[in-house]
Amino acid sequence: MHYSGLTFRPPYEERSLLLQVTTGCSHNACTFCSMYQDVPFSVSPMEEVEEDIAYVARHRTLHKRVFLVNGDAFCLSTDRLVRIAELIHEQLPRIETIGGYASINNILTKSADELRMLAELGYADFNIGLESGLDDVLAFMNKGYTLEQAREALARLNEAGMPFNLNIITCAAGRGRTIEHAEANAAIVNEANPTLIFVSPLHVDKGAKLEQFVEDGTFEECTLRDYITEEIEFLKRLEVTDCWFFGLHVSNPVRVSGTLPQDKELLIQELEHGLYRFPSWQLDTVPNKAAEGRIIV
Ligand code: SF4
Repeated sequence: MHYSGLTFRPPYEERSLLLQVTTGCSHNACTFCSMYQDVPFSVSPMEEVEEDIAYVARHRTLHKRVFLVNGDAFCLSTDRLVRIAELIHEQLPRIETIGGYASINNILTKSADELRMLAELGYADFNIGLESGLDDVLAFMNKGYTLEQAREALARLNEAGMPFNLNIITCAAGRGRTIEHAEANAAIVNEANPTLIFVSPLHVDKGAKLEQFVEDGTFEECTLRDYITEEIEFLKRLEVTDCWFFGLHVSNPVRVSGTLPQDKELLIQELEHGLYRFPSWQLDTVPNKAAEGRIIV
């Protein structure tokens, strides 16, 4: 199999076949992200994709889903995505759905008709890094789109009948804005009604631009209490249907997971109980300091 640079996938894609169709991320500019910083973006040659699909076909694996890697596989043209899906279905008959990471801008490059055609070919449940429902946060995090554009892209997916997953970063608005951020995030998530909400806290990764903003005081990080509280306030405001709330990333200070709306109260209780697991001095400290070995979360 051809894998180059770094390969990432969401935790809940552990049973998916990872098929490389690009290297790096076509945007590669988000303020908080260092994932592909040193990996130049390129599209995999079609011959490599064909070889990998043929290789998997020879080994008769039991996968039911393909997760296209890397950073934003949905940046590929519709024609190329159609060709990849045709090859997958011809040679890997067990495969039911195809996903990957998708950005809001990737979606906006495709019409509703193109999205409908891709949905019919099995494309479903792309992982979309929405991150925030506040325009100034999207701009500060350099996501490359506005909230209005995000609304349009997600509405287009719904119109096309292509289900999707949304990532939300708690405390991405910084200190003192947790309720405002929770409200804004819930508003856009409720409107979009995704299949899965992946909630994880903001990291200040070594080498990311955000690290410099924290150091020079442009951005003030939240405390551990803020992270948990924002997640609770976000959950309280969610009015989605048939949606998996996934807060099990290794970085979540209190790990919870359940189906909405039925598990909503239980999830809120688990997070509230989680607050009591930490001493107050730790709750009122910035958890990212853990990366420097000073605080263990
Ligand atoms: S967060 Fe996603 S879109 Fe942004 S630079 Fe990182 S991989 Fe690319």
